[in-house]
Amino acid sequence: MAKQVETVTGPIAPEAMGKTLIHEHFIFGYPGFHGDVTLGPFNRETAVAAGVEAARKMMAHGVQTVVDPTPNECGRDPEVLKEISEESGLQIICATGYYYEGEGATPYFKFRASLGSAEREISEMFSAEIKDGIAGTNIKPGIIKLATSKDAITDYEKMFFKAGAQAQRETGITLLTHTQEGTMGPEQAQLLLELGANPAGIVIGHMCGNTNPAYHKRTLETGVNIAFDRFGLQGMVGAPFDHQRITTLLELLASGYEDQIMLSHDSISMWLGRPPVIPEAAQGAIANWHPTHLFETVIPELKKAGVTDEQLDKMFMENPKKLFAAETVAV
Ligand SMILES: [Zn+2]
Repeated sequence: MAKQVETVTGPIAPEAMGKTLIHEHFIFGYPGFHGDVTLGPFNRETAVAAGVEAARKMMAHGVQTVVDPTPNECGRDPEVLKEISEESGLQIICATGYYYEGEGATPYFKFRASLGSAEREISEMFSAEIKDGIAGTNIKPGIIKLATSKDAITDYEKMFFKAGAQAQRETGITLLTHTQEGTMGPEQAQLLLELGANPAGIVIGHMCGNTNPAYHKRTLETGVNIAFDRFGLQGMVGAPFDHQRITTLLELLASGYEDQIMLSHDSISMWLGRPPVIPEAAQGAIANWHPTHLFETVIPELKKAGVTDEQLDKMFMENPKKLFAAETVAV
């Protein structure tokens, strides 16, 4: 049987994904938001309304599918995503996985690692959610989210990479990653391949945090896909500017890598906890950090620079479809 993709409203064929944004968050909170509930309480209706509004804006540009890779401890809420999907008609793929050591909720699995059981337990968590759904909802993750630190893949993070590669070998689930500040892209790809994962079923994320084409080519040569998935997010969290991302992307397209690249924004429709207060000096730089910026601003610039409709169709349609259609490596 051909491979199916799990969305929050059930499985679909990869061919039915259509135009896809590979990395957008409907709701997201840095772990710790749970403690600020007095001033930053969660309102489900507001979250759904914000998500539906964002979904409709993306759909107005032809987007049919969005991957929301919110890690488990950052407010992942498959039922909210399902409601957004049902109300808007947008197909949404959710994740299982934990965030990187510096910004995730690490004490839980670190404690269990000290007892010696964490690796097995992470594998069990992935396999239970993939097979039976998330926390009794029957909603299954379509990807495993993996993440690493700046300049390091820590022992904590390696536990998730091992379990993720194992889950991919067993089920074919897609692996989607977070790299920090433009580092460890090639190392993530190498590690996953050593662990027996299929490069065609991997997308290394936030690669546009690095503007050196050689870094990208070292990653791409392993056969994995990469995502330029932070368009509009500039001058914060170690991110470069869009014009630098565009220059790097054009160089990679000119070198023939159009079959391995996907584009997105890493936008957040609603923050959990209190919304962040962005300093005035930084507000201008992120004025375009929203989930239709690519269509309104970046794509016209890419076209002016000679990027063809065929190349754009590959990055938004063909490449996500192939990523999710990839089977496990034959053993
Ligand atoms: Zn993200």
